[in-house]
Amino acid sequence: MVNNISLTLVGGNEKPAKIHHLVKAPANTPWALAKQQSWDANHPATVYVTPETLPDGTPCNAVTVILRTKGCHWWWSSGCTFCGYFNDTRDDVTNENLHAQWEAAKTQHNGFKDQKMVKIYTSGSLLEDREIPVEFQETVLRECHEMNKELIVESRCEQLTDDKLSWATKINPSFTVAVGLEAYDDEVLRFHVNKGFSTKAWDKAVENLRKYNLRVKTYLMFKPPFMNEVDALEHGVRWIKDVAAKSDEISVNPMNIQRGTVIDRLHRNNEYRPPWLWSLVEMIKRAHPIIYPEGGTNGSDDQVCRLIIHPTAGGKIRGAHNCGTCDKFVVAAIERYAVSGDLREFNGLSCECEAIWQQELALESALPLPLGISRPRRGNRLENLRSL
Ligand code: SF4
Ligand SMILES: [Zn+2]
Repeated sequence: MVNNISLTLVGGNEKPAKIHHLVKAPANTPWALAKQQSWDANHPATVYVTPETLPDGTPCNAVTVILRTKGCHWWWSSGCTFCGYFNDTRDDVTNENLHAQWEAAKTQHNGFKDQKMVKIYTSGSLLEDREIPVEFQETVLRECHEMNKELIVESRCEQLTDDKLSWATKINPSFTVAVGLEAYDDEVLRFHVNKGFSTKAWDKAVENLRKYNLRVKTYLMFKPPFMNEVDALEHGVRWIKDVAAKSDEISVNPMNIQRGTVIDRLHRNNEYRPPWLWSLVEMIKRAHPIIYPEGGTNGSDDQVCRLIIHPTAGGKIRGAHNCGTCDKFVVAAIERYAVSGDLREFNGLSCECEAIWQQELALESALPLPLGISRPRRGNRLENLRSL
């Protein structure tokens, strides 16, 4: 009897696993369940203050309040391949709990007296009624308006309907909605990210936000799972180009590996390396003329939108990294660029590892290597090569 051999690059003839099942598996493990129940529902997950810039370019302080919530409704039914927020949620958080967290955050920072900007993150969408009781949504919108704070909330696309925005803007007429678009590419959204919405849904959401004069912040993911370095670079620049005119701000998030996610499993299997910091520098150099067509810098007249890159866990194995020697200088230059928008921040940066990075990009351009050949900085180099 002749076996039919599949022509896929990896795996045998077994039925392929559905990405949905890969995403969901770790959330139900005993360690994940125990962690969920360990959180105090009356205390926010984190509250911290960072320097920021107001929409008109004025420097200010921003307080970020990460609330302990029930999490994201998309996660309940499926979930994104890189999302580790389930680690931080509790499925029994109530309206009273959320109000207690909000009060705790205000008390901790003196009623936000010294912060002009307030960012409210809920490990999901603030404007989604199944996740956040409407009464609490109203409290946040109303109080931030009354306190005259620049408010930023996060949301998926499907909440940003005419009805919802009409209701919200009656309470707070001016705020920013940050949407985790990740990629302006339907194939990547579906097969790499498992995002659960399309580019068309994002277009519609932006149209609605504009209609109500709300500001649009777009998160893009640099190097989603199942993507090599050179594709990440080329797609990253293209997505910036595609969304720049429709966004007030683009925040590019280089992948960082969160525990219990699909990307975590790929990473531990040596099938995924977080992006090189050099790729981020290259992406910025290529995207700069899109953001500043006349060669300007942050705040200049030709600026199409703000471009921010913040490499979370930059320089660490689980974040965007280089060889270990040059990482802190490159991360610092990227962070300086996010403030200044000036390419001169990268002048004089170089390291021996740049040649390895360039070689990898060249090889990945020339060969069909969907998972890439980049090895993480950890482990024995020879063993890593043998495992290819
Ligand atoms: S939409 Fe956001 S919060 Fe929800 S699963 Fe995806 S990344 Fe996580
Ligand atoms: Zn280096």
